[in-house]
Amino acid sequence: MQWTEVLATRNTRMKASEIRELLKLLDQPDIISFAGGIPDPALFPVQAFRDAFAEALADGQAAAALQYSVSEGYRPLRDWIAEEMGKIGIPCGADNILITSGSQQALDYLGKLMLSPNDTALVGWPTYLGALGAFNAYEPRYDRLDPLGNRSADSFAEAAAAAGGRVKFAYLSVDFANPTGETLARAAREAVLDLAEQLDIAVIEDAAYQTLRFDGEAIPPILALEIARKGNIEACRTLYCGSFSKSLAPGLRVGWICGAKEVISRLVLMKQAADLHSATTNQIVTEKVARAGFDAHVAKLREVYSARRDHMLAALAREMPDGVRWTQPEGGMFVWLTLPEGMDAADLLARSLATERVAFVPGRAFFADGSNGNTLRLSFSCADEAAIDEGIKRLGRLLR
Ligand code: PMP
Repeated sequence: MQWTEVLATRNTRMKASEIRELLKLLDQPDIISFAGGIPDPALFPVQAFRDAFAEALADGQAAAALQYSVSEGYRPLRDWIAEEMGKIGIPCGADNILITSGSQQALDYLGKLMLSPNDTALVGWPTYLGALGAFNAYEPRYDRLDPLGNRSADSFAEAAAAAGGRVKFAYLSVDFANPTGETLARAAREAVLDLAEQLDIAVIEDAAYQTLRFDGEAIPPILALEIARKGNIEACRTLYCGSFSKSLAPGLRVGWICGAKEVISRLVLMKQAADLHSATTNQIVTEKVARAGFDAHVAKLREVYSARRDHMLAALAREMPDGVRWTQPEGGMFVWLTLPEGMDAADLLARSLATERVAFVPGRAFFADGSNGNTLRLSFSCADEAAIDEGIKRLGRLLR
């Protein structure tokens, strides 16, 4: 069978991610890994989930938990999410929420909803690699979104038309972004809304790390700023993608999209066609665990992760040679390093694995054009303080 003969064109842009290939190497016990951007499994609320699963599968409950359910998602979970959204300046109801299988599925659906081949998606430079992966299937072109830059809306529209399509949306990871750890300032959020209004495009606000703020003042989500302008979510162009992956557990695959009912109802039809609904039992237990103690659990995560962040920043200040720069995240899981011009982080990784046994993610894959080979992402979420000290010391030695 010549599989290449039967593949749709959308496959040409799908390739194994650098991270995926790398994660395969990390089973070796002597490697200190700052590579995976994943929660520390020691912090999962395991007992709360055990109790919630037992309750969900008890007599009288099990039939509903194991049955098909509605494409919109489990109503009590959508109610809980709507209450939480209200607390961050996004007053809405359950009908403004679609439950997805992780926010990754939200990105896939939003690409599917809006992108025809050769349309343009505006993305950060760098941006979340998984978003590029999700959108790539719909064969877009990417253009660089630099919210406080001087580029006019017309120049984006003209470049998109010359490429044979239209600008459809701007995608941004807003708080403690993957991969940079940086947070989009309020003025930049407003500027994104201005640009989106001029271009008449949607805004996809990826809030995967939003609950993990350690310090500094919370900045309202783009959707909250837009509701403040328009008075009502139904008039808004911003689609907020949330997730329980970083706050509770990623293995359950529960995330959501929040936005105007007009869009949510289209997405419900899309979900129905794609996978009918996200796992019923997982939605039920997520609602139970969230309602019983979400804030207390997230407070614990913040305490542990912020100590690791502090430790990593202190180690970098101690160990990095001149010419290396890094970000100062106020939350999340990542620090982003920029090496001197001309250095290549992929080469550095190969040498690091061979000699120093330290893993990280080279930055190139986070740029839609594969540029900026002198950058890399470090994650502090899964390393204890001794591993952070030792790993950053080894990395400094290698760089010197
Ligand atoms: N957005 C960002 C910025 C992420 O870092 C991730 C996961 N690493 C996701 C979305 C997807 O997460 P999930 O599907 O588990 O919600």
